[in-house]
Amino acid sequence: MQMIISVRDLTKKYGDFEAVKGISFEVREGEIFGLLGPNGAGKSTTLEIIETLREKTSGSVTVDGLDLDKEPGEIKKIIGVQLQTSGYYPGLNLTELIELFGGLYNQTVKPLELLDLVNLRDKAKAKFKELSGGQKQRFSIATTLINRPKIIFLDEPTTGLDPQARRNLWELIQDIRSKGTTVILTTHYMDEAEVLCDRVAIIDSGKIIALETPDRLIDNLVAGGFERPKEVKKANLEDVFIQLTGHALRPEH
Ligand code: ADP
Ligand code: MG
Repeated sequence: MQMIISVRDLTKKYGDFEAVKGISFEVREGEIFGLLGPNGAGKSTTLEIIETLREKTSGSVTVDGLDLDKEPGEIKKIIGVQLQTSGYYPGLNLTELIELFGGLYNQTVKPLELLDLVNLRDKAKAKFKELSGGQKQRFSIATTLINRPKIIFLDEPTTGLDPQARRNLWELIQDIRSKGTTVILTTHYMDEAEVLCDRVAIIDSGKIIALETPDRLIDNLVAGGFERPKEVKKANLEDVFIQLTGHALRPEH
């Protein structure tokens, strides 16, 4: 299996504070890789360093064989990064925004095709601020695909969304991966990592404390004698909600 991202002994200091404390991991081509950890763990810092948007303190990073120190410009060309929503010019509609970003990336884009992919064709003439939370996230994921990247980076793509919108987004992320794009994402939702990620690095206080497939992490825990204090129900309230409201992609209001 080909490694598309390789991070070695990465550290990041903000003044005297060490936010990332010497982490190493590799991401395989074609996988959905998760950085799972609580707020302040160092997830965004790590992601932004790999994205070339933040300086590291020490360590080495290669992306698709490109050394971050030597060829950051080449790395930028093959990755898709979610832009801050503040970058979405308020006067423009979704079609115009995609055309604008296409121009910035020097790519000819077909806005409707891209909007189809994220199920937003019917919002082609809407402004970003008129979208629901889930639609905003889907649009921002569409913008990561404009330059036809090999890898996309998603920083907490589902934070703040309702369960249905989260599942829509999981399906979308799986669709994107099935077309051959590698996905690296951060989340603090354990269920999300379990459903979505092929492998997860659990990061806490700037250190990776486990790196495995979700299945194996759970099996290891159980093999160590762990038992849940009480037999849990076979479904939870969220399952009820999803069952009642449906989870298929559909317009949100
Ligand atoms: P996460 O994304 O996992 O929530 P971050 O990478 O954003 O974590 O932050 C890791 C730690 O570094 C936190 O303690 C945060 O307060 C700190 N931090 C992040 N960015 C800065 C910054 N620009 N200056 C100083 N400290 C920062
Ligand atoms: Mg973060």
